[in-house]
Amino acid sequence: MKKLERRALLCLVLAGCLLAGLVLFVGLWAVRGEHWASSAFNRHLYNKQGILMSGTVLDRNGEILTTVDEDGNRVYVGDKARRTSTLHVVGDPYGNISTGALSAFAQKLTGYNLIFGAFGAEQGGNNLYLTIDAHLNEVAYQALGGKKGTVAVYNYKTGEILCLVSAPAYDPMNIPSDLEENEKYEGAYLNRFLSSTFTPGSVFKTVTLAAALEEIPDLESRTWTCEGSTQIGEGVVTCISAHGEQDIREALANSCNGVFGQLAVELGGDTLERYAEKAGLTSSYSINGISTAKGSFSFGDDVSTTDLAWAGVGQYHDSVNPCALMIYMGAIANGGKAAVPCLIQKVESQGLPSLPQFTRKTKTLISSDTAETVAEMMMNNVQTAYGTKRFPNMELGAKSGTAEVGPEEKPHAWFTGFLKNEEAPYAFVVLVENGGSGADVAGTVASKVLKAALEQVG
Ligand SMILES: [Zn+2]
Repeated sequence: MKKLERRALLCLVLAGCLLAGLVLFVGLWAVRGEHWASSAFNRHLYNKQGILMSGTVLDRNGEILTTVDEDGNRVYVGDKARRTSTLHVVGDPYGNISTGALSAFAQKLTGYNLIFGAFGAEQGGNNLYLTIDAHLNEVAYQALGGKKGTVAVYNYKTGEILCLVSAPAYDPMNIPSDLEENEKYEGAYLNRFLSSTFTPGSVFKTVTLAAALEEIPDLESRTWTCEGSTQIGEGVVTCISAHGEQDIREALANSCNGVFGQLAVELGGDTLERYAEKAGLTSSYSINGISTAKGSFSFGDDVSTTDLAWAGVGQYHDSVNPCALMIYMGAIANGGKAAVPCLIQKVESQGLPSLPQFTRKTKTLISSDTAETVAEMMMNNVQTAYGTKRFPNMELGAKSGTAEVGPEEKPHAWFTGFLKNEEAPYAFVVLVENGGSGADVAGTVASKVLKAALEQVG
């Protein structure tokens, strides 16, 4: 009898294990099934070389960027310039560019769902429409003129990224044989806009300015005299030239390191840190599930007064992610909050559209009164320093940056800002690595891209 009881108990335990296993599997299948189906080991969806054989990627205007041809091969369309300039948003065939649509949005391209699984190459997969305009990408890539860097434009009200270029890039249909070793292609797998951080230089003055406007009550009635170099702490903070007597508006337009270095020291490291955090520059954003790189700053107690001054003008150990900076520009133009950028416009499954993509807003990156003042001063920069002729009919606010990156290297050129235009509420960022002067070099790239963007609006 005892033997029988023992056996019954054993059966019960085994049945219990089976049930638990089944529950675990169904649970994992529901949660992870999409991931399993889109794994590069799935030969229904990927070929032997690991190339995704399902799904078409299009731009916002319905122009096909990559698809699967009749023979089941992944092909990129358009001419070389089109393919190269959209490489980082579309992705390479082998999945080396992990933030490209072919990798990051593989699950959406295969059209996986819990009931029917994924559609293989025979069914062609889904149509994934990106928010980018391929023509703008081509304009931006060409404007970079072979230099490394990144250009992006987005609508700060809807979140749609209209242009996103990272350079160097290459033609995915004719992958260069020296891609891995040629210095010219260094970092080509990286989307600099999403995944890199860089020394910001003077574009960071927009953060120091926001802090000063809120924390220093008489800021707008003060004046300073710049003689080209200013003793701050033990060291000297230098300007390109002597800026003479200036108020805060003029100091921003002149991008006076002396004034902003002094303001940084007056504000103190803790306050600067708080404003950099509030501006979202130390946070990571999720762009349709792709995490952006976080910027970082050293404003701590162990930083010398001179270094704190340099940190306040975007030098020292400061680093920012171009996407986070662009979102901050959107928030300045949009009264303190901006839409979080997105890259997917819609996904069509077997001819049926997906659920609409909802716009997400950032938290408050800058208070609304301060945003208004900073925006107005940035528009004044264009009027008095950058030249409205270069940016016709744009209602543009901008800040340039010429970020020192080492004694032997040319500085990084930055130009970032926004349009105050109902039809074209765009924020943008341009970074030309080792490009030289921000206002000249990056400003010229921005001018070309913004002109092209406004032509698309009509
Ligand atoms: Zn100065």
